[in-house]
Amino acid sequence: MPSMLSLIFRIRWLVLAGALPGALFAADLQIEHVTIVSPERGNPMRDAVVRVHDGRIVAISTATGATAQSTRDTIALDGSGLFLAPGLIDSHVHLGEIPGMTAEQEARHPDIGKAARKQIPRSYLLYGFTTLIDLISTPQGMVRWKSQHNAPDAYFCGGAALMDGYPMNYTPKPQRYQGWPYMLIEPGARAPDGIDPAMHTPQAVVSRMKADGAICVKTFFERGFGGVRNLPVPKLDTIREVVRAAHAAGIPVLMHANSDEAQRFGLDAGVDIMAHGLWNLYQEHSTTSEVTPGMKKILDEELARNVGLQPTMQVLYGLRDVIGASFLADPRLTRVLPSILIDWYRSPEGQWFHAAVSQDMKLPADAGPSELAHPADEGFASVIDRGKHGTAYVVARHGRILFGTDTPSAPTYANPPGLNGWLEMQRLMDAGETPAQIFKSATLTNAQTLKLDGDIGTVQVGKRANLLLLRQDPTQTIDAYAGIAKVILNGRVLDPSELTANAAH
Ligand SMILES: [Zn+2]
Repeated sequence: MPSMLSLIFRIRWLVLAGALPGALFAADLQIEHVTIVSPERGNPMRDAVVRVHDGRIVAISTATGATAQSTRDTIALDGSGLFLAPGLIDSHVHLGEIPGMTAEQEARHPDIGKAARKQIPRSYLLYGFTTLIDLISTPQGMVRWKSQHNAPDAYFCGGAALMDGYPMNYTPKPQRYQGWPYMLIEPGARAPDGIDPAMHTPQAVVSRMKADGAICVKTFFERGFGGVRNLPVPKLDTIREVVRAAHAAGIPVLMHANSDEAQRFGLDAGVDIMAHGLWNLYQEHSTTSEVTPGMKKILDEELARNVGLQPTMQVLYGLRDVIGASFLADPRLTRVLPSILIDWYRSPEGQWFHAAVSQDMKLPADAGPSELAHPADEGFASVIDRGKHGTAYVVARHGRILFGTDTPSAPTYANPPGLNGWLEMQRLMDAGETPAQIFKSATLTNAQTLKLDGDIGTVQVGKRANLLLLRQDPTQTIDAYAGIAKVILNGRVLDPSELTANAAH
């Protein structure tokens, strides 16, 4: 005999299903006897019941009695022995690209491209990332991402690159002007044919981004690396105006800045977040990878002003690990990448970026990772080490570390979706972050800094039900994310077996 309550639910379900597309009304979810681990809590809440309706948490209480049976209206999950945590946020990704594959290569291999694009969203979920921030995108890019099945929630920043500066320089003229709707044109610069410079002032660009739904502005200070070294950089006044306009619009400003010169500039311009660690020294000579007096000055100022820092250490490993063949032999790759893509990476065509990096760094074709030298003749290992020491300096002083991977930071296959986040966590552990700090960085700190904390970042009533059911406590070990029991995306329960690449093998 169905109870009165379930009968009422059933009638309501039928009415709604008849009137509206059924997919909008996923069944309610009730997770019982679970331990809630959430970054705003001092202690875990044990034996909790969490109720989800229409994709949001509607109630949290203490469990009484045995777990209810699932009905047509409510999926009941027994969370005994499991931890319920907010889904992770990666605050620095690039969703338009298939790691290691150019658009031309994708067009030549549509089958591989299709398999890769189908898997990429699932791979992020597989490692617990239910929200992604694409730092250079457009409304069209977001529509494309959201049209996929099982895609993590995504938000975007507009990329306010200086006309013809980094990273616009990588696309040939004049096509590049189509791909960068939010580029900045400074007074006195000659605008390309058909482009109105009045549409590309800091104020115009920020207003347009905001109207387009961007939640942040991405700016750049980069003179170049590898074979390119003399790119134009923006004037300080330009970026100050960007910051002023963005703050008036209520959105934060990130800056691509990985050197002492760039982070000094970012501080002077008043940006909110440095989108990389500080690993290149151009204004100071140093023979060690330790934190230098010049770095200290910059990092202390960032700490004093509570500037956000995305260490993005996997950027450097993503370059290092295309040298030599060992990365592609990592068995974890088969969880996150379709086998036809891994096979293609091994082909001469798929090794193109390895060849480019080797050439850039003047390495013999068969060099291994240990032979990698920095183009400026500084050991690459010491650049990696400097990034680590700079991060450790900020971690030790409880700075505002934002979890972000920059996946993929370059056309490298050594930044695989999802797994790259877990690898970044290991780098952060090496730099002295605890699992609890990483957990907070990847949830509440990211959410607050990007002003998404009304919706995500904690397990609280009113928040989106982007949740993880974990077998281990994520404040104790990052291994919690390597074998997730269930991923809950806007109230829908996903099993890792639905998310794993090559599941049949
Ligand atoms: Zn990036």
